[in-house]
Amino acid sequence: MGAPGGLFIGTQSHPRTLDLADREVVLTLDDGPLPGPTGRVLDALKLHGARATFFLIGRNAAAHPALVRRMAAEGHTLAHHTMTHPWTLRQRSFEIGTREIEDGIRAVQEAAGLAQAGVATPFFRYPGFANTSALDGWLAERNFAVFGSDLWASDWTPMSPERQLSLLMSRLKRRGRGIILLHDVVGQTAQMFPAFLAALCAGGYRVVDLKPGLLAPPLAAAPGNWRSYSERMIAGRR
Ligand SMILES: [Zn+2]
Repeated sequence: MGAPGGLFIGTQSHPRTLDLADREVVLTLDDGPLPGPTGRVLDALKLHGARATFFLIGRNAAAHPALVRRMAAEGHTLAHHTMTHPWTLRQRSFEIGTREIEDGIRAVQEAAGLAQAGVATPFFRYPGFANTSALDGWLAERNFAVFGSDLWASDWTPMSPERQLSLLMSRLKRRGRGIILLHDVVGQTAQMFPAFLAALCAGGYRVVDLKPGLLAPPLAAAPGNWRSYSERMIAGRR
């Protein structure tokens, strides 16, 4: 890991983002796991050999540990999104904020069967992107990568899976690359997912898989170190 200082990425919240090439995307999925939709998302990812980063809610991980273990076994990255997903941490004390973050991490790691005391994956996303400068500082001291996003599907707004897919692909086409925010707990997103991955393949996009330890500042500046493309996606491009 690099020097403490944290990494704040995703242009919808921060000035900088990952150094992705044209048509490279990072799939991030929030608020799970939830039996049903999360399983459908995992099935689609497995079919395409693509890997995602899941920002898990601690209490959901504690309630559904089998899904957390499946994510880990299938090579996905287990990231953190607080214990109870409070709206919003800006109206809570600093102590409640740090406890929410620490309890969430512990719940995810216990569900995954990670015995080590340290933080296995120092990736965090604020619920509703509602950061505070005090918590930003606390996370930076611990060298977390704090994720915003570069584009989203607006999947908190009810719409058909077909409408959501066309909205997301039109936004992606305009932007060309980026960290995509989706919610695996949302039924319309889970229903859209197989067609979404097929559209990425057909459009020549590559899914970039993020792993802990590779986002530290020295490596973030060295393309290739933190990229690992899903093999079938690359095969689909040839
Ligand atoms: Zn969330």
